Amino acid sequence: AAVPTTCDALVIGAGPVGLFQVFQLGLQGIAAEVVDALPEPGGQCNELYPDKPIYDIPAVPVCTGRELVERLLLQIRPFAPRWHLGQQVTQLQPRANGGFDVATSTGQAFIARTVFIAAGVGAFQPRTLPAEGIDTLAPAQLLYRLPPAGTLAGRRVLVVGGEDAAVQSALALADAPDMEAPAAITLLHRRATLTAEPALLARLQACIDSGRVVFQVGQVLSVQQAAGAVAVQVADAAGQTLDLAVDALLVQLGISPKLGPISQWGLAMERRQLVVDAARFETSLPGLFAVGDVITYPGKKKLILCGFHEATLATFAAVALLRPDEPQLLQYTTTSPRLHQRLGVA
Ligand code: FAD
Repeated sequence: AAVPTTCDALVIGAGPVGLFQVFQLGLQGIAAEVVDALPEPGGQCNELYPDKPIYDIPAVPVCTGRELVERLLLQIRPFAPRWHLGQQVTQLQPRANGGFDVATSTGQAFIARTVFIAAGVGAFQPRTLPAEGIDTLAPAQLLYRLPPAGTLAGRRVLVVGGEDAAVQSALALADAPDMEAPAAITLLHRRATLTAEPALLARLQACIDSGRVVFQVGQVLSVQQAAGAVAVQVADAAGQTLDLAVDALLVQLGISPKLGPISQWGLAMERRQLVVDAARFETSLPGLFAVGDVITYPGKKKLILCGFHEATLATFAAVALLRPDEPQLLQYTTTSPRLHQRLGVA
């Protein structure tokens, strides 16, 4: 088993609230380890609405989901959090003398003095393709995220899905420079109508017209290994069976969040939300804090702004626990030399 990483603070979830949690901890001189199931930070903002405008972040009249995440990442840069992305926290157990044993799906282990659950609506996981034989495909043949540029160069790719993500992936592949471009791109959706942004649909239509992308209506019935390639059996709109030979499937059927393991840690919950007090944002286990969309308390609103406040108060409560002998001073970032030093602006 891996040697556990010992830390003062572990943040579960790198959504906007988890990121601001890192900032508040950093201001208090507490370094954070951050775990997220996704390969990139940003939570719902990045995953569900990267290009949509947000209008209710204080002092930011408008920014997109992606821009908010970029700004939060910039803001926490001085505190150099350690990232553990692409892995889900699966286990959490209180230790006899305080703190927690935490383990992730990739076998990482932590001993954390305090833990902050900022898990939002749960770990984001791609919806899988329910087709016969899907388990027989190799990892390089079955992709759930658009891989780095060039990975699919010269290959025949079947993109499955009919929403923004699927259309965007088909376009990204179609727009790749020759050296990195797939040999053929087919977009398969069960209906003739795609539900993506009009601008994306217009670009897709242009690619279909030029023959760069083939659009096919139908549903995958089964897949099979066929001499290094994948034989895909599709039922088309008329109920006819169609055979496609491809090298890789890029499944983009959306993502569904799963609260999963968190609901099995014996914490007090109400309607699938963690119950916390609104002064310390602590769960039913001392030292285990929770903030953002994953919590409930009287008056809770699932807004980013509210999550920022929760992360701030949770930090003060954690400082009292980690440094019990230290008087709790409220310092301003404008005037405090100590905070300036931590921010690297001294
Ligand atoms: P999330 O953003 O959900 O992030 C949680 C993260 O935790 C995820 O990345 C997830 O993968 C990870 N995670 C969960 N469980 C685990 C685990 N066990 N192990 C590892 N990682 C885990 N709010 C506003 O204030 N203003 C708006 O204008 C606004 N517009 C919105 C528009 C849309 C379309 C949607 C869907 C939401 C909008 N919201 C808006 C709500 C806002 O996005 C959420 O309140 C916010 O994202 C909550 O942040 P969070 O950090 O608590 O959780």
